[in-house]
Amino acid sequence: MTKVALITGANRGLGLEIARQLGQSGVTTLVAARDAERGEKAAAELAADGLDAHAVVLDVESASSVEAAAEHVRDVYGRLDILVNNAGILPEATTPEATQPLDLELFRRTFDTNLFGAVAVTQSFLPLLRRSPAGRIVNVSTTMGSLADQSDPSSPYYRLVVPAYQTSKAALNGLTIALAKTLADTPIKVNSVCPGWVKTDLGGPANRAAAPLHAADAARTAVTMASLPDDGPTGQFVDRNGTVPW
Ligand code: NAP
Repeated sequence: MTKVALITGANRGLGLEIARQLGQSGVTTLVAARDAERGEKAAAELAADGLDAHAVVLDVESASSVEAAAEHVRDVYGRLDILVNNAGILPEATTPEATQPLDLELFRRTFDTNLFGAVAVTQSFLPLLRRSPAGRIVNVSTTMGSLADQSDPSSPYYRLVVPAYQTSKAALNGLTIALAKTLADTPIKVNSVCPGWVKTDLGGPANRAAAPLHAADAARTAVTMASLPDDGPTGQFVDRNGTVPW
């Protein structure tokens, strides 16, 4: 039975590479994007390489869009095997020197995408994941969301203070733990991943220039956790080197 995967924010960056690699492993890949044209373009790029990839319009901040996407997947595929909650934003300045005044509007905007978006998508797709014999949920987090890392003076990220982004990802990690416990007596596994520091548009052009990893390399951690065997872990936070402390 061919597996079906949906990746949010899959029209560019890390999401597109996760979609590509899942497609390369023989999975039917649903390239979810909030903009129909951008999603179609990304799915066409993957299909041109021979992958079974299809665009799905999905704005994680729009309840009606999320629900319509879930209905579409239910009608066409009848179930979902892999959900990758990848869509995310980082609207704060990321230079270590930047002082971050608290900005409620910015917190709300960041949480709307990074946390509530993942909650909404997971809520709507969970009935379809329950129909899978081996459902997998991967929440794309970051070591910058680790409370242990944020409070560790020896961390390379210690001086990087982006509170809306960091707290939104810490909250996403909380969602991972809660869901893993709630779904412990089902086949569904739920894990958080940190892809590493990746050359994408997130954080602006300076980040793209400075980041050491290409999206194709960084996508592997998410793809591994999306492809876990039945005896694989759940409720974990991992990066390319292993466990990340919460
Ligand atoms: P990116 O290149 O900026 O891509 C972000 C993706 O999220 C885009 O496809 C974007 O769509 C989508 N998106 C944003 N808001 C959305 C919404 N409301 N509904 C649906 N899609 C939405 O960033 P990236 O680096 O690939 O980031 C992907 C994930 O990796 C994020 O969760 C990020 O926090 C995480 N991450 C990245 C790094 C890094 O170094 N880059 C490190 C750790 C974790 P549009 O094209 O329509 O804007």
